[in-house]
Amino acid sequence: MKTILTGDRPTGKLHLGHFVGSLRERVKLQNSGEYDKIFIMIADAQALTDHADNPATVRENILNVALDYLSVGLDPAKSTIFIQSQVPALFELTAYYLNLVTVSRLERNPTVKNEIAQKNFETSIPAGFLCYPVSQAADITAFDANIVPVGEDQAPMLEQTREIVRKMNELYGEVLVEPNIFLSSNETCRRLPGIDGKAKMSKTLGNCIYLSDDAKTVAAKVKEMYTDPLHIKVSDPGHIEGNVVFTYLDAFCEDKKTVAEMKEHYQRGGLGDVKVKKFLLEVLEEVLTPIRQRRTDYEKNPAAVMEILKAGTAAANEKAYEVLRRVKRAMKINYFE
Ligand code: ATP
Ligand code: MG
Repeated sequence: MKTILTGDRPTGKLHLGHFVGSLRERVKLQNSGEYDKIFIMIADAQALTDHADNPATVRENILNVALDYLSVGLDPAKSTIFIQSQVPALFELTAYYLNLVTVSRLERNPTVKNEIAQKNFETSIPAGFLCYPVSQAADITAFDANIVPVGEDQAPMLEQTREIVRKMNELYGEVLVEPNIFLSSNETCRRLPGIDGKAKMSKTLGNCIYLSDDAKTVAAKVKEMYTDPLHIKVSDPGHIEGNVVFTYLDAFCEDKKTVAEMKEHYQRGGLGDVKVKKFLLEVLEEVLTPIRQRRTDYEKNPAAVMEILKAGTAAANEKAYEVLRRVKRAMKINYFE
């Protein structure tokens, strides 16, 4: 069996980083027909680990994320889209996995460390937040997923999951499937920088182009995009390292030859930022236009979108419950069976 599980936190609308890091790969994998099962999770319980005081944001964004999914071409006939908090088996599994992980191991997780600093959690970390990698292990293993298409920031989570799987299998017999990370083959896409040049486009940092932005907004964002501060006159030689306009061309433009020529010209001098940005905008619009069109159709009928989530959640519950029963049997906590 080849099974995929991946997901996103409903903490905002999805952006171009999500698109190249994970969404675009998911749609490709979905349409390859090579996978038996594809589970796509809206991770609302995980979002609450750092949004406990703001549940309204999480609730609102369930529909936004679902619309983003359907707009990029995730197809409910091929992929099961579900809501994490509505699958109780995930929380039972988390409780058992927590016994196999130490607090110091959780504190060493580089992504979590980063996020703790970003959110000013240093002096007081919500326990649920520190433990979210364990709940992610439950999300992945509850579906017997062996492939997890995500961005690079998720590598430590996959490593943690693999450790838990090995420990479970060692203690209780071969009960869980060990998953593999699936990173985009295009290195630029594994961690897309923000329009401000910061290392990661992220909802939290507010440096995003959203899949739902209209053409005018995208044009304005491209205009303010970080380039090379030393490239003052058009005739000056420019730098492409750290110049996000070129990074985005690497991530989005299929015509690699034209991009290579533009890079060469820019470095030599004589190619202005305005021209490169105009080209990037065309490339982005080609990607975003069909996404917007699909969104318009689904937006007209939010009740139908909620029905898709309800049906997906029922299917997810069935599979997760089956795995939970298998785990409890292996742990010999199936007293009444
Ligand atoms: P938050 O700030 O709430 O954590 P986020 O923007 O990091 O939001 P997530 O929902 O945490 O988004 O991540 C969902 C998926 O998108 C993960 O697989 C993650 O690796 C991927 N992803 C997020 N941002 C990027 C990015 N800039 N480049 C590539 N992949 C990304
Ligand atoms: Mg994140």
